[in-house]
Amino acid sequence: METLTVELGDRSYPIHIGRGLRHASEYLAPLLQGRRAVIITNETVGPLYLDDLRNTLMPLQDQPVAALQLADGEQYKNLSSLEQIYTFLLEQRLERNDLLIALGGGVIGDIAGFAAASYQRGIDFIQVPTTLLSQVDSSVGGKTGINHPLGKNMIGAFHQPRLVLIDTDTLNTLPDRELSAGLAEVIKYGLIDDPEFFAWLEKHIDALRARDPQALAFAIARSCADKARVVAEDEREAGRRALLNLGHTFGHAIETGMGYGAWLHGEAIAAGMMMAADLSQRLGWIDTDSVSRMRDLFSAAGLPVTPPAGLSPARFRDIMAVDKKVQRGRLRLVLLHSIGAATVTADFDAQCLEQTLEALTA
Ligand code: NAD
Ligand code: MG
Repeated sequence: METLTVELGDRSYPIHIGRGLRHASEYLAPLLQGRRAVIITNETVGPLYLDDLRNTLMPLQDQPVAALQLADGEQYKNLSSLEQIYTFLLEQRLERNDLLIALGGGVIGDIAGFAAASYQRGIDFIQVPTTLLSQVDSSVGGKTGINHPLGKNMIGAFHQPRLVLIDTDTLNTLPDRELSAGLAEVIKYGLIDDPEFFAWLEKHIDALRARDPQALAFAIARSCADKARVVAEDEREAGRRALLNLGHTFGHAIETGMGYGAWLHGEAIAAGMMMAADLSQRLGWIDTDSVSRMRDLFSAAGLPVTPPAGLSPARFRDIMAVDKKVQRGRLRLVLLHSIGAATVTADFDAQCLEQTLEALTA
């Protein structure tokens, strides 16, 4: 068992990581004193883990543990699911002092978190993330929200959870492809500012893909600590937090260009990080040996290292031009000086970007 704290003053909260934590009432008990919790999950995760979590909560509250199971999928991270949650909370007569628990991947965490941020002007919530991506990324940092037909994550709020409970055993039922997608964000933390972690990942990537519990617990804790440090320095993304977008501008172009859902987010940003590395190398920043190490690690993690065929440089340019990281007309990118040293910059030779697009896209 590992515990770390996200340091945000009076909104600080613990992240507990370990095997079987969905059964561990000792972490939930302090938050439940005289309060009531309800659970939001989905139709995939519910049948797997809802009963376990319910049984853990049952002795901690007088009333039955009510739960809402939403349909599964990014397309349901929308206003109508949010309304379903509000209706459920009102029917349950959930009070301002009560608690909401998100049990599931990033979709459930984001939408339930936003419901908690806005229901009765804000109630406490707990994250019980069950995908690798949600355990290392979306459950840390307090961004919550839903999609709008005109844009992903366009409606939302910053609302920090009171507790994150990560049960590494839940990853045993996660499809391989989803596990690999989560590993893309894990590797990202090594690339941003943790070269030691990157080297550790090179040695333990097979153990992680085999879901070795100790390796997973270490990688998750280290990722959360890396993200928590960046978030603590810049909660509202005025500066440093933008480093977490490494590979994401290229990655979003891939997701948009392919149509959402064709590639998982983690797959798109793995290829996106390789594009950022290629550009960084052309600028004379990162060396070729490091770029090969990146390519080898992403491949070993089961991730793509080049963008999909069929996305032209022109299409990339068009999509990236409307990316939200364009500030005052200049495209800002996260680039690499080396493994473990990323920078946000708008100051790069546009010719080199052209060369990267020409070289890597079909
Ligand atoms: P997801 O929530 O859609 O989960 C992926 C799939 O795995 C789903 O089908 C889900 O039902 C299933 N699943 C979840 N846990 C499982 C388990 N233990 N066993 C078997 N199946 C399981 O996707 P995700 O990758 O977890 O999250 C993606 C979402 O997170 C996106 O909406 C993205 O915008 C958001 N996100 C938010 C932040 C943030 O800071 N708030 C950061 C990154 C991503
Ligand atoms: Mg991401």
